[in-house]
Amino acid sequence: MPATTAPVVFLDRDGVINRDSDQYIKCWAEFEFLPGSLEALARLTAAGLHLVVVTNQSAVGRGLIGLEGLEEIHRRMTRAVEAAGGRLLDILFCPHRPDAGCDCRKPATGMIVEACRRHGLDPARAVMVGDRAKDIRCGRDAGCRGTVLVGTEGRSSVWAELARWGIVPDRVAPDLDAACDWIIDCLTAPDQP
Ligand SMILES: [Mg+2]
Ligand SMILES: [Zn+2]
Repeated sequence: MPATTAPVVFLDRDGVINRDSDQYIKCWAEFEFLPGSLEALARLTAAGLHLVVVTNQSAVGRGLIGLEGLEEIHRRMTRAVEAAGGRLLDILFCPHRPDAGCDCRKPATGMIVEACRRHGLDPARAVMVGDRAKDIRCGRDAGCRGTVLVGTEGRSSVWAELARWGIVPDRVAPDLDAACDWIIDCLTAPDQP
């Protein structure tokens, strides 16, 4: 079986890997890994899972950060993940503003569709992890086997939005590290007949 058919974890970035900010993450100095996230990425990698980051970065479309700046953040993030023993297969981002009507900004599924096309991945062998309702909806609409909501303690608006859409995540966890066992089980269990 070619390596590209290995199961995959689609990861939102802000609020899952690093601390989110209302002011956007505009440079590496503002990028702070969440506790346990580097270790979690290393564990998922060691379990044989591909890791693909899919992140809405409207800060680009808003003119708050340039593409070079965003790519610099992603280069440094990738290096830190590798230094901790993890590996990112790819990082896809939507640079558009929410009102642009693009098909890549989550909850639209464009980034997952593109990652699957690029790397020969199968959404039915994927889990989507995010901290917002739009991440869960994106994973669900893309046909992911599982969806995991993390870091929502004290953020009832996320649950209100999920209720409005009539969807529930398959798993809820305080953070990525706490979700690792479930993700690995979900993706290494035998395929459904
Ligand atoms: Mg997020
Ligand atoms: Zn977009």
